[in-house]
Amino acid sequence: MSHTVELLAVGTELLLGNIANTDARELSRELSSLGLNVYYHSVVGDNPARLRQAVELAKSRADILITTGGLGPTCDDLTKQVVAETFGKKLVFSEESAQSIRDFFARTGKAMTDNNLQQAWLPEGCTILKNRWGTAPGCAFRSGNNYVVMLPGPPSECLPMFREEAAPWLMGLSEGVIRSRTLRVFGMGESRVEDLLRQRMNALTNPTLAPYAKEGEVELRITAKADTPREAEALIAPVEAEVRSLLGDLVYGADVPSLEAVVLAGLKGRGLTMGTAESCTGGLIAKRITDLPGSSAVLKGGVVSYTNEVKQHVLGVPARLLEEQGAVCADVAAAMAQGARRVLGCDLSVSATGVAGPDSDERGNPVGLVYVALADRERVWVRELHLGGTRHRRDRIRALGANHAFDMIRRYLDGKDPEQL
Ligand code: ATP
Ligand code: MG
Repeated sequence: MSHTVELLAVGTELLLGNIANTDARELSRELSSLGLNVYYHSVVGDNPARLRQAVELAKSRADILITTGGLGPTCDDLTKQVVAETFGKKLVFSEESAQSIRDFFARTGKAMTDNNLQQAWLPEGCTILKNRWGTAPGCAFRSGNNYVVMLPGPPSECLPMFREEAAPWLMGLSEGVIRSRTLRVFGMGESRVEDLLRQRMNALTNPTLAPYAKEGEVELRITAKADTPREAEALIAPVEAEVRSLLGDLVYGADVPSLEAVVLAGLKGRGLTMGTAESCTGGLIAKRITDLPGSSAVLKGGVVSYTNEVKQHVLGVPARLLEEQGAVCADVAAAMAQGARRVLGCDLSVSATGVAGPDSDERGNPVGLVYVALADRERVWVRELHLGGTRHRRDRIRALGANHAFDMIRRYLDGKDPEQL
């Protein structure tokens, strides 16, 4: 029988709308990839009576309860007390957790107060979930047919703790192992991917196949349950092959973090360098590459050529071209990429010029019209993109433009036509 989960977020700040319940979103993604069915999300304030009610309700309708928040040292942090009490458990002092908390303060040089040690009181007989990212330990326990996991609220603690501490504990509840592979897809929208795969997705039970929309791309997660890791892999392989044959080179990687990470690794592997010339993306392409460790081996530099003067005087875009066609056109994108390659002395360069909005430009070019170019020593390729539409905000148009620049490099490195969409 597969388990059902309720996620209960504790915190008045969530109810006041001060923060969004991003823990629930992230944990839901993790849980579904583990093959656990999330049935409910609920949110309750820092109020013992209502928290108790919420826990009772969760207990009655899901067999795994996962709480987030309220594990800290302040007086409004009451999740542990109330949850333990509702399941009839006493809190006991854990010397091991107390030591971890003291170590954390020693390591970070922060001052520890007595109430920090309050966090070392945990439900009797629980499994302690270590918190290497903060101070409040989490915990997990069984009570009859129910399982309870408590995690701290800050996403920077909650998510790594889930992955490294809670997920293995949850996996131990069911026999066998769960393996998943995430294929990353660029160049086709989520609804088209779903259309293509819907029949297959509905027919599959083990492994399962689920799409997730991300900014401008789609993730497809294949999850298998089996007795051994090898059997799980064997279940995944044919489904992966099938997806790859349907989507072809729209799949840019399996279990890879991002398009730019694939590009960085690809350039590094071939000993190539890159540079950027950015207008509408305002440096975002360079930013995303430099977010990654090791980018200095690959990125020579970038020019944010926002004005025509800079396009002309720094990158050498011909003045006549700018006058006749304006800054937003294929020829300017090509000249920007070629200019950046020359000025920065790199093997490859990418450029972006377009209308990020909210208004169309002075030549009447519509919001979302973006040209992205790639130049190597011999050639230059340009993509014309129409990223407008009511849903598309300025930041999204820029992010999508940057994605396309990376996708052009990715295709170039794979020996494919960089212009092809
Ligand atoms: P702390 O030790 O920091 O007090 P805690 O487990 O007691 O951790 P809370 O006090 O409930 O957690 O929340 C601390 C902060 O974590 C909140 O101010 C908020 O920024 C973030 N946070 C809490 N719950 C969530 C949530 N469900 N989604 C996203 N962020 C959250
Ligand atoms: Mg707190």
